[in-house]
Amino acid sequence: MIELVSKSRCVECGMCVRVCPTNVFDAGEDGIPVIRRQDDCQTCYICEAYCPVDALYVSPYGERQVNVSETELAEAGVLGSWRETIGWGKGRLKLAALDTTPFIDRVLPGKEPIGRSEAEFILAYPTNK
Ligand code: SF4
Ligand code: SF4
Repeated sequence: MIELVSKSRCVECGMCVRVCPTNVFDAGEDGIPVIRRQDDCQTCYICEAYCPVDALYVSPYGERQVNVSETELAEAGVLGSWRETIGWGKGRLKLAALDTTPFIDRVLPGKEPIGRSEAEFILAYPTNK
């Protein structure tokens, strides 16, 4: 669940307000987004991924609110860690580049459609590795 918008980091780009699929934020009068409908948060991390300055924190607890300290999150290196993990941001290794499942190769453009036996193999992966 979304827990923090850092006023000191936010550059008021409005991206989180636009990308949130459940309309959790409102644009604040000062330009900094306000968490207005926290209970509607789906813990999808999209806002964190899009925030260009790592100003948001989404807690992994989807169903309950937790108190967070911006200082502690920053000191622990948590702010921006999701964005870094998935490889968003210039010069970062994209998560898809590390994916070695057969499926990732089959969804690329120009590949043959997946046949029944291959589909069954993919569904059973990685037990048949
Ligand atoms: S985690 Fe997803 S649902 Fe929650 S505020 Fe961010 S974008 Fe919206
Ligand atoms: S995406 Fe980040 S920088 Fe942009 S408005 Fe939201 S919190 Fe601020």
